[in-house]
Amino acid sequence: MKNFDTDVAVVGAGLIGSATALALRQRGVAVVMLERDLGGSRASGVNFGGVRRQGRSPAQLHLAARAHPIWADLKAKIGIDGEYVRSGHIKLARSQADLTALAAYAARVADFDLGLEILEGRAFRERYPCFGPEIIGGSFCPGDGQANPRLVAAAYAQAARQAGCEVIERCPVTGITREGDGFLLRCGDAVAVRARRLVNAAGAWGAGIAAALGDDIPMRFDYPTILVTEPLPPIVSVNIGIEGGGFYGRQVERGNLVMGGGFGVASGDGASRPDSGALARIGGRAAAILPATRHARVIRIWAGIEGYTADKNPFIGESANVPGLFHAFGFSGGGFQIAPAVGEVLCELICEGRSSTPVEAFRPDRFQQQSAEPGRTP
Ligand SMILES: Cc1cc2nc3c(=O)[nH]c(=O)nc-3n(C[C@H](O)[C@H](O)[C@H](O)COP(=O)(O)OP(=O)(O)OC[C@H]3O[C@@H](n4cnc5c(N)ncnc54)[C@H](O)[C@@H]3O)c2cc1C
Repeated sequence: MKNFDTDVAVVGAGLIGSATALALRQRGVAVVMLERDLGGSRASGVNFGGVRRQGRSPAQLHLAARAHPIWADLKAKIGIDGEYVRSGHIKLARSQADLTALAAYAARVADFDLGLEILEGRAFRERYPCFGPEIIGGSFCPGDGQANPRLVAAAYAQAARQAGCEVIERCPVTGITREGDGFLLRCGDAVAVRARRLVNAAGAWGAGIAAALGDDIPMRFDYPTILVTEPLPPIVSVNIGIEGGGFYGRQVERGNLVMGGGFGVASGDGASRPDSGALARIGGRAAAILPATRHARVIRIWAGIEGYTADKNPFIGESANVPGLFHAFGFSGGGFQIAPAVGEVLCELICEGRSSTPVEAFRPDRFQQQSAEPGRTP
C-alpha cells in the first residue's frame, strides 16, 4: 500500500481536475490527483473540440471570458498550442424564427463583448457558399474557435505533473471517508491518500463521488456521439453549430470533417458506444447543411460520457454539507472551453475562500429541494 499525505486530493484527471491541480501547484499547494484510467482519456480527450463562447448562458460567459485569453496563450500554460485556432463560430438558422432567436441572444449577451454578427440573405450566401439552401443565415462570433481535445487534455495532465502534482493513473478511488477535518481516499489496497481538502472532478461520475460523502446532487448521463470523415478538400474553416441543436461540425487542417449532434448508448462497465440511428441522423443533417459532404466516407465514430444537469450549468463550489469538499462536475456538454478558467476558480475558492469570477449560479446545492430527471447509468 502506497500512502500519501497532502493538502489537496483531486479525483479525476480530466481537464477540470488537471487545470485545478496545475493552478494549485502554481501557488505551491501540495496536490495528489487520482485517475481511474489515463489523464484526459474520458470526455476531456474525446470531445468535439469546440472552443466556443457563443450560445452559453450569461452565467457561464463570465467563466468563458476568463478562459478566452488562456486558449490564445495555451503553449505558455501547457507546452503545446493544442491545434487551437480562432476560426470563428457560426450558429446557423433554418428559419426566420431561428434568426429572431439568434438576434435575441446577441442582445442578451451584449455586455460580454462577443462581437456577434447576424448574417442573412445575400451577405450570408456570399460569405458562406458552402451551406445548403435550407440554411438561411446565422450568427457569427469571430473570436471563437476550435482545438484538438486529444492533445489538450493529455497535455494539461502532463503540465500538472511537471508542476509537481503527484498524478496517479489507473487508480480508481473505491472509498472516501471523513478523517478529522480532512479526507481519507482509498484505491483498493494499492493507494491511500490523506488530504485536508478534496476536489471532486470525476466528470460523469461526480454525483457518485458526492453521494459517497452524503451530498445528493442530481445529474443524468448521456453519451454525445462524434463522426469523423476521410480528409476532404477545404469546405469550411469556421466552427459550426445550429440554432435548436442537432448538429455541429468543423473541418480540421488535414481535411477531415469532425461532426456530432446525437447521442449513443451505455455499453457497460463505464463504457459507451454510438447508436446507429443517431449516426444516420447526423450524416443526413451534414449532407443537408454542407452538401459537399454528401458522399464523404466516415472513418471513425465514438461516443463519450458526459454528466448533464437540469439547467445545463455545472456544479462548481464547496459543498454546503461537507466543509473542504469542492465539487466541479456536470458540465453538460460544454466544459472544454471553460475548463482552464474553472481550474483557476477552484484554486481561488480553495486558497482564498472566494473567486474573482462569479460562480454563485453553479452552487452544488441549488437543486437540493428539487428532483432531477431520471438518470441512465454509464
Ligand atoms: C463527445 C463529446 C463532445 C463534446 N464537445 C464539447 C465541445 O465541443 N465544447 C465544449 O466546451 N465541451 C464539449 N464537451 C464537454 C466536455 O468534454 C466536458 O464537459 C469536459 O471535458 C468535462 O471535463 P471533466 O474533467 O469534468 O470530465 P472527464 O474528462 O470525464 O474527467 C473526469 C475523470 O474522472 C475520472 N474518474 C471518475 N471516477 C473516478 C474514480 N472513482 N476514481 C478516479 N478517477 C475517476 C474519469 O476516469 C475521468 O478521466 C463534449 C463532451 C463529449 C463527451
